[in-house]
Amino acid sequence: MTQINQNFLELQGSYLFSEIAKRRTKFMHENPDADIISLGIGDVTRGLPDAVMTAMHAAVDELAQPRTFRGYGPEQGYDFLLQAIVEHDYKARGIDIATNEVFVSDGSKCDVGNIQEIFSQDAVIAVQDPVYPVYVDTNVMAGRSGKFNSETNQYENIVYLRCDASNDFKPSLPDRKVDLIYLCYPNNPTGMTLTKGELKAWVDYAKENGCIILFDSAYEAFITEADVPRSIYEIEGAHEVAIEFRSFSKTAGFTGVRCAYTVVPRALKAKDASGNEVTVADLWNRRHTTKFNGVSYVTQRGAAAIYSPEGKRQITELVDYYMTNAGIIRDGLKSLGLQVYGGVNAPYIWLKTPSGLDSWSFFDKLLGEANIVGTPGVGFGQAGQGYFRLTAFGSRENTEKAVERITKLSL
Ligand code: PLP
Repeated sequence: MTQINQNFLELQGSYLFSEIAKRRTKFMHENPDADIISLGIGDVTRGLPDAVMTAMHAAVDELAQPRTFRGYGPEQGYDFLLQAIVEHDYKARGIDIATNEVFVSDGSKCDVGNIQEIFSQDAVIAVQDPVYPVYVDTNVMAGRSGKFNSETNQYENIVYLRCDASNDFKPSLPDRKVDLIYLCYPNNPTGMTLTKGELKAWVDYAKENGCIILFDSAYEAFITEADVPRSIYEIEGAHEVAIEFRSFSKTAGFTGVRCAYTVVPRALKAKDASGNEVTVADLWNRRHTTKFNGVSYVTQRGAAAIYSPEGKRQITELVDYYMTNAGIIRDGLKSLGLQVYGGVNAPYIWLKTPSGLDSWSFFDKLLGEANIVGTPGVGFGQAGQGYFRLTAFGSRENTEKAVERITKLSL
């Protein structure tokens, strides 16, 4: 019999969302008339912006005619989209990124998951705790994690950077040598951010210690405060130590359409087994062109449309809609005396569960007494125990209704 990749057996079951679904289904079975509001999963609910829709329709028409038909496109992305990204997301902010440093893909999930492939099997990885699970699981599959310890809820070879209220959800620098550091800002799940000065400390650390930062900024569009960096490349020296991941998913309602991009600066170097310097972008380019055949033309036209004046206006409206929801949740919970984090530069609200309840007990209380589904913080890592995540991606009506219901709970 053919042998499997044994590393897959080290993966922990996708306990979080399956357990949520199980408890929700059971509750619905027992309470068929309950009007359940989900503020649990991080998926958007509004339609695509008009500018995107119009551009996609036009692109479909082009593909329907032999004269304007396009087949396979460049794996890294069409030049019109690369140019738009470079101009609007970087040059407009004084950041120098070239089009050959940008790689368009069908989602940041794939990119943050695949990036580890180009690094050594022995690379030591550091992640924030709590964490977006993809960073951890893809390294488990690759055999870098070591064994899972069910008592600590952690893998033995992964360095966890604890983020909780005691450090304002800002992790300390690693206390041992690491090679790859996954940082996610604005953060999912905590909704918290770093200032420029705080992010600079990470860039300086990476330079001094020869590590690479994998900077996931899928929620960049939700930043409202001036001192919060929108790109890690705003920090001097970051071009030499960081890869940045951005997504159109939450910014432009692309969770189903699928488009994202990764920036790998040419200045970013790593070494081979003999100590020779290698340009990381060359490896990523090789991997990307070997394993990926490009995002559809229609999708890339839709993505490029968000950079037009009307597209910009429409996505600002979209983001404002969700951030108004975030404010409603945040203010509503705060007025109840709860400890609430996030929701200012991110569509996630992270709250300390009241009355010493653990994350799952609070989940049951919220579902049972207010018919609201959220996400238990412990599902994102041990440091999330005693916390709970609500998202701002629901409709205004449901968001207001949910907050009203929570207000009536005895907490
Ligand atoms: N990174 C983070 C932190 C996320 O929360 C998500 C989606 O929820 C992603 C990446 C994936 O985004 P995409 O839809 O582009 O795959």
